[in-house]
Amino acid sequence: MATRTDVTGSRAQPGPFDRSIGGKFMRVGIPRPLDKLYDYAPPSGMPAPSIGARVRVPLGRTSAVGVVMGYTDDSRYELKEILDVIDHPPLLGNDVVRVTQWMADYYHSPIGVCLDTVLPSAARRGVRSEPRDAKVWTAVDGETHALARRAPRQFETWQLLRSKGPLVDEQIRAYQLDRARLLALERKGLVTAITRKLRYEVDGGSVSLTDEQTEAVDSIAGALDRFGTHVLYGITGSGKTEVYLRLIAKVLAQSKQALVLVPEISLTPQSLDRVRERFGAAATIHSRLPAVARFHEWTRCAKGEHRILVGTRSAVFTPFSNLGLIVVDEEHDTSYKQQDGLRYSARDVALVRAQHLGIPCVLGSATPSTETLYNVRQGRFRVSHLSSRPGSISTPSMKILDLRGQEMRGGLSVGLIAKMSEHLGRNSQVLVLINRRGFAPSLICPDCSWRSQCQDCDARLTLHEYPNRQLQCHHCCAVHPVPVSCPDCESDGLVSLGSGTQRIDETLAAEFPCSKVYRIDRDAMTTRRKIDSTLREIRNSENSILVGTQMLAKGHHFPNVTLVAVIDADRGFLTSDFRGPERTAQLIMQVAGRAGREDKPGEVWIQSFDPENRHLKVLAKGGYQRFIDQELEAREEAALPPYTYMAVVRADSEDREAAERCVAELLDGPRAKDLEVLGPAPAQIERVSKRWKFQGAIVARSRQRLHDSLRDMQDRRQRTKGVRWSIDVDPSELS
Ligand code: ADP
Ligand code: ZN
Ligand code: ZN
Repeated sequence: MATRTDVTGSRAQPGPFDRSIGGKFMRVGIPRPLDKLYDYAPPSGMPAPSIGARVRVPLGRTSAVGVVMGYTDDSRYELKEILDVIDHPPLLGNDVVRVTQWMADYYHSPIGVCLDTVLPSAARRGVRSEPRDAKVWTAVDGETHALARRAPRQFETWQLLRSKGPLVDEQIRAYQLDRARLLALERKGLVTAITRKLRYEVDGGSVSLTDEQTEAVDSIAGALDRFGTHVLYGITGSGKTEVYLRLIAKVLAQSKQALVLVPEISLTPQSLDRVRERFGAAATIHSRLPAVARFHEWTRCAKGEHRILVGTRSAVFTPFSNLGLIVVDEEHDTSYKQQDGLRYSARDVALVRAQHLGIPCVLGSATPSTETLYNVRQGRFRVSHLSSRPGSISTPSMKILDLRGQEMRGGLSVGLIAKMSEHLGRNSQVLVLINRRGFAPSLICPDCSWRSQCQDCDARLTLHEYPNRQLQCHHCCAVHPVPVSCPDCESDGLVSLGSGTQRIDETLAAEFPCSKVYRIDRDAMTTRRKIDSTLREIRNSENSILVGTQMLAKGHHFPNVTLVAVIDADRGFLTSDFRGPERTAQLIMQVAGRAGREDKPGEVWIQSFDPENRHLKVLAKGGYQRFIDQELEAREEAALPPYTYMAVVRADSEDREAAERCVAELLDGPRAKDLEVLGPAPAQIERVSKRWKFQGAIVARSRQRLHDSLRDMQDRRQRTKGVRWSIDVDPSELS
């Protein structure tokens, strides 16, 4: 194996796997929290499995499903034989095996945990990869009286299918129709099931591209045969998706496959629809897909039956027979970083995979992350700009609304309310961003000092009014009834402080009785159907108000919105997490970019008690790129990433001291090596679900030094009962 290069361009040390090429014994990884590979002798009476094949091996007194990760000649022991080879040809390609190994090295995680993350659950269980052909189910008219009597459930299924028309497998699942009943009906001749052949068509697209789009397509398409990272930096609506589609068409024309990663499928169904519309088909993999269906889509990609996959974070591990392009849409999105278990970044894994395969990776965003723009500046990533919207829709102007001395009504300033009525009066829509759900973040007693505090967390309980009046902990999800009077002094004058989406919703409904108010947050938008119908209603309405959380920043375009109001930017710019300002700026820019169209120029107003805040000022005046330039300067001065390399170690326990001690011990090694070490310190929310949380950060001038100290840490770590700990390389949050 060649020397691996990490995503930021520095050399990573060869891992323990590099010695394992060639040899007559198999090194097998097992998807369980095990730190090492296990060596086995080839199975007798069967061809030896290749790298990437799943095998069943004896482990202790039982057997386990594992994956052949390499070969070795070095066996000092009598080795047991592999019991069974599950896949011919192997399920995982060489590149997925290599990426798994890379993760073990880079994230300092046991190889078994990495495999557990890579493999879908059905694959871990040893399910054989024989995807059923996709079918179209149709009800056939016939004699059903007897059926209604003798098999009423089957009859119901038949009726539903008849009323809904022909359904494909995905819809069968969505309507929760029972497959066994459908098959029984098929045997009775009351249902037909026709195999649907996946038919991909290479459609080059028909709209004529803008000059900038043409440049972007040409520049990336000119380098399809080699690894390279291309940043597509274009404001929302500038036609990035069109560029992806053109590139996919070129890749399909070379008989290769394309992988498109998106942050969240349920919120961004448009990308999938557009791909299917253009190319006739596309696979999708996301967390809500049933396990076996997910595995079948996986194997279809591995066999080359699927030529395009649109998927969320974990789709980055899908094996392909001939992958030619990876697109990471909205590359700045934090959902690409897994926040528990193996804390990998799907964007970075995508880059490593593209590098192993020698194919291009496209990172698209209106607000690329600081590290991506840093890499552009360093010349490691190439960039294409899309600076205007097709059809010359103007980008909205951004202004700060000084709250000092302003009269406030339920979280909104009078000045902002006046602006809103101006826009609503012109039959436009207004969008209000407040990144906090619920009615109010706390309930207090003004007579004594009682506060609505979670018993198990170091956090206030949030008051919710809808759909039920209750107190909720947003950290451990505990729910309590709202006390009628103060639990301590029995005063009945409890007051709620601060605002969430529900209070703003109420305030607006009272201020603007003639406008409809739509609330878009996790509590209101519980199902995909609800999201769809609400969005449809909004698109067809005028003179209405949209209030919501960051959910508003994802994927949807609101052409009738001409005013975007940001209610609580201050909170975001003032966090202790050094990435707080960047996240807040991205959120504001993303929401702002969803508004306006050609004949209706938009404006963005940001309420602030701190209008002189340097982050806010530069963003409003200079725009996103100036904001990032300033951010990079500040990070360089403070020796923070991307100028340095960081890892965070975290520990939690019901015993506060044990958690703190664990972090302190973990940090001892790096401290002794002269690395910069911060902590141990309590986490921002110090206690969650009765567990105390501590953390510490290690900052190094070189990636190499950081990794040396982490490797050391993994070796020295001691198990302490009741303490969980983890390493987070390139943390996306410090909370
Ligand atoms: P983004 O992905 O950057 O948000 P889209 O690709 O979704 O942008 O494009 C926004 C809108 O502009 C879409 O409705 C798309 O069909 C349209 N569009 C994209 N490129 C062109 C073009 N060259 N000419 C006309 N319309 C275009
Ligand atoms: Zn009280
Ligand atoms: Zn709690």
